[in-house]
Amino acid sequence: MKIICIGRNYTDHIKELENEKPTDPVVFLKPDTAILLKKQPFFIPDFSNDVHYEVEVLVKINKVGKHIQKKFAHKYYDQIGLGIDFTARDLQSQLKEKGLPWEKAKSFDGAAVIGDWLDKTQFQDVDNLNFSLQKNGSLVQQGNTSLMLWKIDEIIEYVSKYFTLKIGDIIFTGTPAGVGKVNANDKLVGSIENTQMFSITVK
Ligand code: ZN
Repeated sequence: MKIICIGRNYTDHIKELENEKPTDPVVFLKPDTAILLKKQPFFIPDFSNDVHYEVEVLVKINKVGKHIQKKFAHKYYDQIGLGIDFTARDLQSQLKEKGLPWEKAKSFDGAAVIGDWLDKTQFQDVDNLNFSLQKNGSLVQQGNTSLMLWKIDEIIEYVSKYFTLKIGDIIFTGTPAGVGKVNANDKLVGSIENTQMFSITVK
């Protein structure tokens, strides 16, 4: 399986990192080795002093497809999740400056937190989901999928022009404002609406 991630998909987070609003979605991949194993803590890697959490809504692909039109995209997923796109921000900034790919900053072991999955039929509208991240009991990120520049079906249309989507592939749909540094002993809890989707500790 592969993990396809969308960057700069919320206007407020684009402002936060002083990025330009893109004309196309920013796309990058994480390998399956980036998945943080269930019930394991997240270990801050020794090559970074500034690892950030980015809470994101996830979509799990359940059907093989290529060149999927937006109007059919809803047939290619039936589960919604929540995760963290851990990012070594210091390393990413160096790579960005040099115009180099971001993989070392975003695709290292443990950099993809994948929480529980919910059936999308539980929700009235996947394009109007509230989600949030708490760090040590305080709210640090809050978003709603209606604020995404590219909605789930548009993301599927876009990425499937380039990559064949396979069963089990996961899409990280981008993060809202409020990203920040993690420190040892932090506890991160993510929720969609009022359902807790993951809880992890940082070491
Ligand atoms: Zn992200």
